[in-house]
Amino acid sequence: MSSGPADAPKAAEGAPAQSLPSRPAKQPKEKQPKDKGAKAGPKNAGLELPEHPDFIKHRLEIFDKIKARQDAEIAAKPREEITISLPNGKEEKGTSWETTPLAIAKGISKSLLERTVISRVDGELWDLGRPLEKSCKLELIDFEDIEGKKVFWHSSAHILGEAAERRFGCYLCNGPPTEDPPGFYYDMANMEGAAIGDDDKKALETLSNSIIKEKQPFERLEMTKDELLEMFKYSKYKEYFINQRVPEGTKSTVYRCGPLIDLCRGPHVPHTGNIKAFSVLRNSAAYWLGDSKNESVQRIAGISFPDKKQLEEYKTFLAEAAKRNHRKIGQDQKLFFWDEMSPGATFWLPHGTRIYNTLMELMKAEYQKRGFVEVMSPNMYKADLWKMSGHWNHYEEHMFTFEVEKEKFGLKPMNCPGHCKIFAHSDVTYRELPWRMADFGVLHRNEFSGALSGLTRVRRFQQDDAHIFCTIDQIREEIEGAFDFLYGVYGLFGFNFKLKLSTRPEKYIGEIALWDMAEAKLKDALDSFTEKIGAKWEENPGDGAFYGPKIDITVYDALRRDHQCGTIQLDFNLPRRFKLRYVAAKDDSGAATTADDPDLPVGYARPVMIHRAVLGSFERMIGILTEHFGGKWPFWLSPRQVLVIPVMPAVNEYAQEVQKMFHDAGLFADADLSGNTLQKKIRTGQLEQYNFIFVVGAQEAESRTVNIRNRDDQSTQSKGELIPVQEALSQMLKLKAERRIENKL
Ligand SMILES: [Zn+2]
Ligand SMILES: [Zn+2]
Repeated sequence: MSSGPADAPKAAEGAPAQSLPSRPAKQPKEKQPKDKGAKAGPKNAGLELPEHPDFIKHRLEIFDKIKARQDAEIAAKPREEITISLPNGKEEKGTSWETTPLAIAKGISKSLLERTVISRVDGELWDLGRPLEKSCKLELIDFEDIEGKKVFWHSSAHILGEAAERRFGCYLCNGPPTEDPPGFYYDMANMEGAAIGDDDKKALETLSNSIIKEKQPFERLEMTKDELLEMFKYSKYKEYFINQRVPEGTKSTVYRCGPLIDLCRGPHVPHTGNIKAFSVLRNSAAYWLGDSKNESVQRIAGISFPDKKQLEEYKTFLAEAAKRNHRKIGQDQKLFFWDEMSPGATFWLPHGTRIYNTLMELMKAEYQKRGFVEVMSPNMYKADLWKMSGHWNHYEEHMFTFEVEKEKFGLKPMNCPGHCKIFAHSDVTYRELPWRMADFGVLHRNEFSGALSGLTRVRRFQQDDAHIFCTIDQIREEIEGAFDFLYGVYGLFGFNFKLKLSTRPEKYIGEIALWDMAEAKLKDALDSFTEKIGAKWEENPGDGAFYGPKIDITVYDALRRDHQCGTIQLDFNLPRRFKLRYVAAKDDSGAATTADDPDLPVGYARPVMIHRAVLGSFERMIGILTEHFGGKWPFWLSPRQVLVIPVMPAVNEYAQEVQKMFHDAGLFADADLSGNTLQKKIRTGQLEQYNFIFVVGAQEAESRTVNIRNRDDQSTQSKGELIPVQEALSQMLKLKAERRIENKL
């Protein structure tokens, strides 16, 4: 199942209209409301074409003919007693070519019947209403299962497709379920260049809901390739899929619901009425087959659930996510922007740069505590370095490469090869290990311009990147240190996180003994760490990189969305490629496992390299944090900490004095001395999300105090207690130093 991006490239706008030389005569496009005699009943008047286009009639004729043949064939099949084995060990008796999974579910319980979306017969997904052909193993799957969701959303795409054909007389292209964002879409061609408006979306939703009400069964029909080509001869899109997916001389299936017959392998829910809650969410332009050389098509995306409450919750989630969108907050708070002149590279405005720097200061302070040392390494290297690291063969298309004085160069997409050069240069002995080498270097990756997206997918970024060079014996301690680091930093953001170990894949480099040893150490470290924090870890067998096992770290934000930020990756490959070595101790077990290495003189051993990052890319992390906090930054990370507002011009001087005091102490403090009204100044400060607003008047000036309004505490939004200004300052410095999430003095 494909899960194409729902946000289609905007560039499709203005793309030339598609040419369809072989398509039949145009269908009437005018909506003819109140046509009582037409097929569309009066309740759908204005929502759909008054009469089905000819291609729909053509399809139905063929369907009816072949369906009669299939029904007769099934009726003639032998009826025998079969045994259906269920996952709980129970067995049911049935009749071949008659008993359906639906009947089995019904026989067990009504609630099971209602919950079940689809079945799996001997491992194959199977329509609930399709007769079982022989004795088999049967599983019943509900919406909570990812396969169940896919079938549910895939079935919903048919409903949307039916509505779209009935409204526009369009040709359907591709309509898959999607995981991210969840739901489904349908691409539509032959729209006569018409764009879809809000009224269309509403009409499609209304039509879809009437289709759901009708409980149209999903009918399955096997057809030969020739029959399929005849049925879909009106559409080059379906013709393309038939030729792609159905080998000569074989059969495939179509499914019918209402007047829609779609080329599809299925399976589906039994009937459209199983979709209890359905919503059309958005539309966009896309390209046929996702290729910008092809014509533009219209994409409509939707979501559906087995009950209305889930749909309401999802809509609330979408509204909250839209409110927190980092592009919007970035603009509202004047943090960052992008410009056509440098796609995928962010312009950081002063307040955005404050956040960036604060995060970097956090990392530097942690490095100081945790024995990391910073280095700086070049941004561009000759192709030779990338050949040595292996990037040239495997990663070149993701790099920016260019010529300087007739020699090929590449901008670094990661720091690792540069760090290997530093290590190789430094004649290291075992006493100096582990060497924890950190680098905030600027990285560039050549992402497709169409894939670029806000701070989440960029071309230019920096990481809290570090490489730990250590002996094999030190792996476990270093990994535990990395976990502790993650735990400390993610705790400051209030992130929950989950760990997953990916182990040796089929294709790997290095000795198996080394892998086994490293994996055992990682498991030990995972066990002891997760026990300490009362969490769990999972294993992803065979999913490691070819050069070493890795630990994936998933964090969950305030909206329970998951993100991959940090990395912990062992690497046996780069040290070997760069011939890295250290003077080994006499009893170094690492020296033993690498003894057969021809590049290694006696007395030396190969270090293991651990790639690790906690924040990952600063850009991406700031995007995530902006949405996680919804723009309400915790004090220590906030680019606007204190705003001083004088109630009248006579106290401007005192306001400025207070501002300067806080500023000089290292806080981000401003004073609003504009001519705006007091109410307006307070409102502006609140919109800009200052953590604290001090309103100062004559009384405050005289007593050298401030009256503090706390952004997150409604009870402080009017004049309250007067706090000596020195006391306010020391409390705020403490709040900053402790990096507390809660905005509380
Ligand atoms: Zn389908
Ligand atoms: Zn690395």
